[in-house]
Amino acid sequence: MTGDLLLRRAWIADGTGAPLRKCDCLTGKGKILALEKELPCSAAEHCTDLEGAILAPGFIDGHGHSDLSLLAAPEGFSKISQGITTEICGNCGLSPFPLTTENREHLEELYASYGVKLEWSDRQSYLTAAAGRDPAVTPVPLCGHNTLRAAVMGYEARETKPEQLRQMQELLDTALEQGAPGLSFGLLYVPGISATEEEIAALMAVVARHDGIVTAHLRSEGDKLLESISEMAECAFRAGLKRFHISHLKTAGRMNWQKLPALYALQEELRKKGLSVTCDRYPYTESMTQLSVALPGEWKKLSDAGLMKKLQNTEERLKALNDLRAAKESSYWEHCRLVETGVSKYRPYRGKFLSQIAPDPAELAVELLSQDAVNTTAAFGTMSEENMLSIISQPWCAAGSDGNALAQNSSRKPHPRSFGALARFLRLRLDQGAKIEEAVHQMTGLPAEIFRLDCGKVEVGKCADLTAFDPDSVDGKATFTEPETPAEGILYSWKNGVLRYGR
Ligand SMILES: [Zn+2]
Repeated sequence: MTGDLLLRRAWIADGTGAPLRKCDCLTGKGKILALEKELPCSAAEHCTDLEGAILAPGFIDGHGHSDLSLLAAPEGFSKISQGITTEICGNCGLSPFPLTTENREHLEELYASYGVKLEWSDRQSYLTAAAGRDPAVTPVPLCGHNTLRAAVMGYEARETKPEQLRQMQELLDTALEQGAPGLSFGLLYVPGISATEEEIAALMAVVARHDGIVTAHLRSEGDKLLESISEMAECAFRAGLKRFHISHLKTAGRMNWQKLPALYALQEELRKKGLSVTCDRYPYTESMTQLSVALPGEWKKLSDAGLMKKLQNTEERLKALNDLRAAKESSYWEHCRLVETGVSKYRPYRGKFLSQIAPDPAELAVELLSQDAVNTTAAFGTMSEENMLSIISQPWCAAGSDGNALAQNSSRKPHPRSFGALARFLRLRLDQGAKIEEAVHQMTGLPAEIFRLDCGKVEVGKCADLTAFDPDSVDGKATFTEPETPAEGILYSWKNGVLRYGR
């Protein structure tokens, strides 16, 4: 037998959680051809000695947002340099399809900074556009509820009519038929925030017919965390849905840190009633999203583009400022960090807390939102380190970055998770005493099981998506001030047997 590539003297963590075993791995035509104790270098065109490093399936990022960034930067450096070869995207309700005249203009504006033409309409044509760029990371997009809803009725905050719901079901059905593993909700965002339980259950029923999964950025990740999970679970039982996945599980806000034991009990109770509940988590305690989420009440019903337009008006700006001051104590701004903005005056302050940038942080926030609500993102330090460590140690928690595939030196400042999340997840799990094979399983076999992917295993016949790493040095080194620092300890990444990262 001859192959393209022979990887010798590796300790294999095969993704299933089985104990490490030392062997050689032969690949050819993008597949794993043989796994044997010893194979001669003559068996393949190229031979690489891994000298006792760990060889694992290419990591699966269980939660990413590279739908567009991967087309803008197909080398996907931030991800492939962490060993990631597959990403579940289309998360938090936002997928780049289905596109119709109702939502195309809005999404073109949202994605404008990537410089990618939205030359598709459905999931299949999106994947064709992505594949044409030969990305280093395979995108596996869910169908996003916010995009789906807007495809039928735009971004206005209102309830669906029966005919609109039927159209959404049809578009969802098409996406699932085209291979989407499921539907993602982003119930904190416009227009998903207006979805009723009837709407959620009706869409879940379509997913259930395809035996798919529903994921959610919950309506509340803090004050109403348990109620938000229960809301989704009730809809799932009504719809006959069997698998529910909580995106970036957290207990946001100090007051809510004590809810974790109750959350675990709820997860177990739901499992016993027949609803499998899984989650993903990034290993940081600062979340990141649009700065606009800081605005309270009615402001939440506006899209970022709509908000920006409204804030052009001086009176509205003053109203927003008063509402913001009433809603947030001044200490809030000591934990709210500017991550990215298109407002050039403030770009030098990216990575700093709003309280460090201006004497009146609320006023600064309104200024940023009025000038660039669409591209201004912020990090919110509301999470407990202890809870984060507990969540990542749960056997039903997959590693996820919540980040983007980015080029090595892009002008965008990301959250450090884009360059570091999975490598850091691995480091933290090993430091907690997890076996290498257990930690690798949470980053490969487990997300593959959750999303029913045909990868995530080192097995003869499977695709040769592989990564080799040094367990002693592997770590995500990116920080908010140096967010583009590459991960350490990842030696090589191969996509379909082709070297995409490493020496
Ligand atoms: Zn989210």
